[in-house]
Amino acid sequence: MDRRTVLRAGAGAGLAAGLWGSAGRATAAARPVALKDRDWAGLKQLLGGRLYFPGDPGFAALNLPANHLYSHRLPAAIACPRSHEDVLGTVEWAGRNAIGVVPRSGGHSYAGYSTSDGGLLVHLGGMRDVTVKGTTLTAGAGARLLDVHAALQGTDLLLPGGYCPDIGVSGLVLGGGIGPATRSHGLTCDSLTATTVVTGDAYTARCHENSNADLFWACRGGAGGNFGINTSFTFDLHRVPKATAWFDLSWDWKDAAPALKRLAELIADPRHRKDLTCRFGLRTSGERRVCAQGLFFGSEETLRKLVALLRPRRSRTGTAGIRECMHRLHETSSGDPYVSSSIVSGQELGASVADELVDSLSNWKPASPASRATVTFFAMGGADTALRPADTAYVHRDAAFVVDLAAYWADTDPTPVSDGNRLRLRALYRVLSKSLGTDAYQNFPDPGLTNWQSAYYGKNYAKLQTVKRTVDPARLFSYPQGIVPAP
Ligand SMILES: Cc1cc2nc3c(=O)[nH]c(=O)nc-3n(C[C@H](O)[C@H](O)[C@H](O)COP(=O)(O)OP(=O)(O)OC[C@H]3O[C@@H](n4cnc5c(N)ncnc54)[C@H](O)[C@@H]3O)c2cc1C
Repeated sequence: MDRRTVLRAGAGAGLAAGLWGSAGRATAAARPVALKDRDWAGLKQLLGGRLYFPGDPGFAALNLPANHLYSHRLPAAIACPRSHEDVLGTVEWAGRNAIGVVPRSGGHSYAGYSTSDGGLLVHLGGMRDVTVKGTTLTAGAGARLLDVHAALQGTDLLLPGGYCPDIGVSGLVLGGGIGPATRSHGLTCDSLTATTVVTGDAYTARCHENSNADLFWACRGGAGGNFGINTSFTFDLHRVPKATAWFDLSWDWKDAAPALKRLAELIADPRHRKDLTCRFGLRTSGERRVCAQGLFFGSEETLRKLVALLRPRRSRTGTAGIRECMHRLHETSSGDPYVSSSIVSGQELGASVADELVDSLSNWKPASPASRATVTFFAMGGADTALRPADTAYVHRDAAFVVDLAAYWADTDPTPVSDGNRLRLRALYRVLSKSLGTDAYQNFPDPGLTNWQSAYYGKNYAKLQTVKRTVDPARLFSYPQGIVPAP
C-alpha cells in the first residue's frame, strides 16, 4: 500500500459508510461522536491554542460572514491553523472525531457556505502569505485579493482576479474567478498552475497538470468546500503594458434601456472581445442609474471613441498602471444581508430583455430605506473561451456574460421586508431566466436553485462526483449544494 492508500484506510475507516447522507444530515450508518466526547484538548494542543468556542473572546468576530444573513450560524468550534501541517492535523482530527469541516478564507460566499451549524469552522486567515518570484505568484489559503495587489505593487504583473479586494483568493479561484481582465487574460483559475490540497481523507495532494491531475482539474471551477482544504495556490502571472486605460460611466434612469442595448452591442463586437472587459449594471438605491466600469487594453484615444458611441451622461476615462486601474474598479461588501441569483448566458443581451429588466426594476419600490436591488452584467466571451468546457471544471466557456441579481436590506429590518425582497428577486429571476437560460455561476451560488448540479457544472458534474468519491468519500466536507460522491 502506498502512503495514500494507508491514509485512506486509516482516516476513512470510521467514516466510510458516510458521515453525511445526500440531504446533508448524519446518516444512521455514521459513527456519531458526542460533542463532549470529542478530543478538543488534543486539537487545541495541535493548533498551539488557536481553537475558539462560542463565548470565547474573538469567537464572534471570527464567526461573522460577509453576508449577515448567515451570521446566526454557530459552529461547535473555530480552528485557526497557521500552516499546511496545522491544516493536515486538523482534518485528520476531524475525521477521527467524526465532525464535518467547513473552510473559510475571505468569508464572502453569497450563500453562507463558509458558515457552519455545529461543525468545525476552519478559519484560514492566519495563512495570508503571498510571495512573488519572477512571474510566479504563490498565495496561502487565507490570502485575499488585496494581499495579491500589495505583493504585485510596483510591477507590471497581473493576476486576473475579481472586482472586490476583500474576497479570498481560495474561493475565487476554486469557483472560476471573473473580473476586469477576464476577456483579455482569462479567468483566475486559468492562471492556476499548481495547488496543494489536504483532502477529505487527510492526504496531502500536490496537484498540477501531471500530478493528481483530476483533482487539479476539479480545483479550477469545482468550487470551494468540496474536496478538502487547499493550503496554497501557484499562479502564472501576466505581464501587461506599463499603462492601461480604464473607464467609469453612468446614465440616467430614463436612458437605461438604450444604454443597456448599446453596452450589449459593444461587448458583442468581435473586435473588442479581447481588449475590453467591463461590468455594467443597474441599481435601485439612491439615484437610480445604469453604470459601467472596465479596462481597455488599447489607447485611451480609442477608448474615448468607443465611449462616445455609448453616449453616457457622465464619463471618466484615464490611463494608469495596472494596480491603480484595479484600485479604481474596486467595490467592497456592505455587510448587509442579501439574497442573490445568477445567470450565465451564451446569448447576446437582446433589446426585449433590456426592456423587461428596466420595467421590473422601475417598479421595484424599496420596502425600507436600506432595501435595494442590483443587477450586474459581467462581460465574458474573450480569453475565457480559449479553453473548452471539459478542459477544467469551470464549464461556462461559451458564455457571453454572467448576470448577478441581488436584493439587500438592513440587519434591523423586520421579516416582511426581507421576505418581500426574496419574492421580488425570485420574480425578477423568473423573468430573466426565461430569456437567458438557467445556467448559473458557482461563485454566485443561489441556495434556492434546485437544478444546481447542471446549472453550475453542466456535463462536468459527473467527473466532479468521481473526484469527490476518490478524495472525500465520507463527505467530511459537505454543504447543501456540495458535490455528492459518485455511487
Ligand atoms: C462583494 C463581493 C464581490 C465579489 N466580486 C466577485 C468578482 O468580481 N468576481 C468573482 O468571480 N466573484 C466575485 N465574488 C464572489 C466570490 O468569488 C465568491 O464569493 C468566493 O467564493 C469568495 O471567496 P472567499 O474565499 O472570500 O469566500 P469563503 O466564503 O471563505 O469561501 C467560499 C467557499 O470556498 C470554500 N473555501 C474557502 N477557502 C477554501 C480553501 N482554502 N480550500 C477549500 N475550500 C475553501 C468555503 O468553504 C466556501 O464553500 C464577490 C463576492 C462578494 C461578496
